[in-house]
Amino acid sequence: MTYTIDGNTGTWEIVCGLEVHAQVTANAKLFSGAAAAFGAAPNSQVSPVDAGMPGMLPVLNGYCVEQAVRTGLGLEAHINRLSIFERKNYFYPDLPNGYQISQYEHPIVGRGQLLIDMPDGHTRAIGITRLHLEMDAGKSMHDQRDGETLIDLNRSGVALMEIVSEPDIRTPEEAVLYLRKLRSILRYLGTCDGNMEEGSLRCDANVSVRRVGDETLGTRCEVKNVNSMRFVARAIEHEAKRQVELLEGGGKVVQETRLFDAVKGETRSMRGKEEANDYRYFPDPDLLPLVLPADFVDRLKATLPELPDIKKARFMAEYRLPAYDAGVLVAERATADYFEAVAQGRDGKQAANWIINELFGLLAKAGKGIDASPISTGHLGKLLDLLGTDAISGRIAKDVFAIMFETGDDPLAIVEAKGLKQVTDTAAIEAIVDEVIAGNPGQVETYLKNPKVIGWFTGQVMKASGGKANPQAVGEILRAKLPPVE
Ligand code: ADP
Ligand code: MG
Repeated sequence: MTYTIDGNTGTWEIVCGLEVHAQVTANAKLFSGAAAAFGAAPNSQVSPVDAGMPGMLPVLNGYCVEQAVRTGLGLEAHINRLSIFERKNYFYPDLPNGYQISQYEHPIVGRGQLLIDMPDGHTRAIGITRLHLEMDAGKSMHDQRDGETLIDLNRSGVALMEIVSEPDIRTPEEAVLYLRKLRSILRYLGTCDGNMEEGSLRCDANVSVRRVGDETLGTRCEVKNVNSMRFVARAIEHEAKRQVELLEGGGKVVQETRLFDAVKGETRSMRGKEEANDYRYFPDPDLLPLVLPADFVDRLKATLPELPDIKKARFMAEYRLPAYDAGVLVAERATADYFEAVAQGRDGKQAANWIINELFGLLAKAGKGIDASPISTGHLGKLLDLLGTDAISGRIAKDVFAIMFETGDDPLAIVEAKGLKQVTDTAAIEAIVDEVIAGNPGQVETYLKNPKVIGWFTGQVMKASGGKANPQAVGEILRAKLPPVE
């Protein structure tokens, strides 16, 4: 698991902390009643508050507060019953107030942790520093009209949760695992849809390097614009290599904000990093300190679903699944629910195999999610039952499965309509075996010298039966009918 960068003067390790902006799934914005849906016509979802009109007062959206607390609970984090909204002052054309309302010294959620599942089966805890609520800014569009910049304020005021990790991440892979797990938890909770293409989940990676064995942290750069899982790993890798080269060449890393260029696969300087005091944070005088009632947190605790880590442990114990299978199945709640519906009262490992090895492949090819699976949980269960009672062979089951995916039909109906029922009738199998033995005296000779050739006979009989003969019965009958091997 150790990941190091070999430089010319020694080996280096990566230190990385992620800042994730997760859009709260909510109908309205953080401080106004305007809609927050993605994809509306520009400036069609803007209240006077979002447009920064003079004299307008922000009103805190209680639902968004609840979702932030639920997310904090999902990250096993400390919930601060007192938090404070502050103004973070900076100028952007798409920030009409000239400040963003955020939280700074007193965020709503404090320290927590997130467990990432390493490929070798062990888990690693990544510390969560904080989660705070803030409003999003609008969007500048430079490519709509020549020589002019247009501004869309639909996003202005949309509720974001900024989730900051400790600098505990050591490899590009861990960063991806962290993001995946975070997204999984957010989606389980329903507090953020995790859609990176639509910008509901955005990630900035803070990267520094240090010589292996060093305790002190190096100077970090913040890489923005890493908005796909694939890019996160690449951006971190490139940025770390750049820093190693720079340091080994006698240079110094300057703390700055850099942009990841996915096409060129490099990071480049965007702007010097502002210090907190450049923002002149101060408590927003329009908003009272946020004080959560005593029972608020407990009430929300009761609304939490079973989260992926707990579900994974339960799947391993209850359905006797290996860690890998359980991890794959719990990543998405819909997949976990699908699995449980099929596995209930059946062989869990077998159900997992069909879902992971067969269904996932077909779904991916068809570009469908499990919610839209043409094979219902009831039908897949029925197919497993047909297999379990030897009504069909394993080979036929795969064919039936493909037809089920095509047509959405009931497996029993398919088996009956196509006459695919496994032949367990020994007389029928015996007739085929006799025929194959009589027709291949040469192979019988070979078999006498090499008993493994029975496999060839089995193949011939299966073929002659159209794959419907019960392989076990075929083996038994063949052994009885072939001349005995000395
Ligand atoms: P800022 O607002 O200045 O970006 P934040 O507290 O929001 O500061 O985020 C700092 C992020 O940088 C955290 O994710 C933290 O883990 C990470 N970080 C801090 N120091 C280092 C370092 N030396 N190397 C890598 N990451 C770091
Ligand atoms: Mg930051």
